[in-house]
Amino acid sequence: MNESVHNVINPARISEIVGQVRMCSADDVGRALDQAQAAFQTWSRTTADERAARLRAASQSLRNALPELTTLFVRENGKPLREAETDIRRSIELMEMIAADLGNWWKPVTVDEQQPVWTRRRPRGVTAVISPWNSPVLLSFKRFVPAIATGNTVILKPATYCPLAIMRSVDIINDHLPNAVLTAITGLGAMVGEQLATDARVRAIAFTGSTETGRRIMALASQTMKKLFLELGGNDPALVLADANLDNPVVDRMTNAILRAAGQVCIAIKRIYVHESRLDELVGKLSESFDRSVVGDGLAPETTMGPLNNKAQFDFVTRLVKQCENKGLTVITKGKMLAPNFWQDGYFMLPSIVLGASRKDDIVRCEQFGPVIPIMPFREIEDAIAQANDTPYGLRASVWTNSRSSAEELADRIEAGAVFWNNHGIFRDLHLEFPGIKQSGFSRESRWAAMDHYAETYGFAE
Ligand code: NAD
Repeated sequence: MNESVHNVINPARISEIVGQVRMCSADDVGRALDQAQAAFQTWSRTTADERAARLRAASQSLRNALPELTTLFVRENGKPLREAETDIRRSIELMEMIAADLGNWWKPVTVDEQQPVWTRRRPRGVTAVISPWNSPVLLSFKRFVPAIATGNTVILKPATYCPLAIMRSVDIINDHLPNAVLTAITGLGAMVGEQLATDARVRAIAFTGSTETGRRIMALASQTMKKLFLELGGNDPALVLADANLDNPVVDRMTNAILRAAGQVCIAIKRIYVHESRLDELVGKLSESFDRSVVGDGLAPETTMGPLNNKAQFDFVTRLVKQCENKGLTVITKGKMLAPNFWQDGYFMLPSIVLGASRKDDIVRCEQFGPVIPIMPFREIEDAIAQANDTPYGLRASVWTNSRSSAEELADRIEAGAVFWNNHGIFRDLHLEFPGIKQSGFSRESRWAAMDHYAETYGFAE
């Protein structure tokens, strides 16, 4: 491999190079920052109407490119067509929604009648958006669209495993924006990412990724006191109570919350605690549901679950499963291989359930980010709550029960940014979002809150 270029591999066909991206140098990043800072002087003074019109035009061009973007995304990421298309469609909808909201987002507010004081808003400046490989399109759009809509300029650094669909989207958007309002720059996190986290010209960072990297960015950014928005890792628990309905569509909904994107979702269910009286039934029904998975190339219409995205992740999850087997835990593997003869050509894994694990095991403690789920029985609800909260993370959680009041009571006591009842993780309405708590970060990036994030509030007084 040429030192300054990274090959992007198709995880369903690892001999196939889908595309290449540059590994940018410190000078490249410096130049991009100079240009973004210069562009801020004019972009920050454009009207909301002009910015909204440009975003609307860009979203129309993205809609025209939806099939091309979806195919490219599947080839570099691995997720099935339907899931990939949903990510891109929602990204475009988000852009349209913010364009529509922009005119109503903000009006100066008087806060004191005696001495007139107005609360006003202005963009912060150059904003760095650093995104992960698992959902790079939607998670980049969620951060950079409100940032540019409110008059900031953005440098976007996507993850090198999966940068092509988002880079292509940026090219399309840039046909509608002045130069250097939105710049995508690829390269090593430890190099490009750290430069963005330390350079004084960057005023804000919106980072989505692991807690470990978030911690590093927070430390680096403290040197220049940047505004930070962090969306980090998770280890979401699901509590299945004695009275839960485990008939379909409930169990298939649970399967989807575990296996969507082969489990490579920050808000996937990653641990299940089930009342001991329902353990066998849950394992049986979830096994049947997992068995309906068809694992293969995301481009094939029959595929319900694609491969893991990259070798490091594949090796990590494979090691976790081996570790469970070596400890004598029960590993139940289900599902069908779409193309058994080509199984070794991709980072494919069949989905598994692990029984017999405890809070000390890595499969319970770590964020597995793969298609394997530990199920643990509990007798007393207090014990289930304690185990659910026994994690540094706090993204999402769910309670599966016939009783709404039980679910609400538990929601008060489970440490998570949002708790779902007989469901997990997804708000259909794009306007809704809740920040993670504990070491899952702090941010709140949807509709008005998202725009508020990227603009600072200042006072104007007589
Ligand atoms: P990661 O932390 O390894 O990388 C994320 C991004 O940070 C990449 O672009 C990477 O190049 C960059 N980076 C790496 N080291 C850096 C450094 N030292 N300084 C600056 N930037 C650096 O995460 P990942 O493996 O790409 O993504 C998976 C993780 O992201 C999981 O933990 C998952 O839970 C989390 N995630 C969280 C959310 C959320 O909304 N809370 C959403 C998706 C993914």
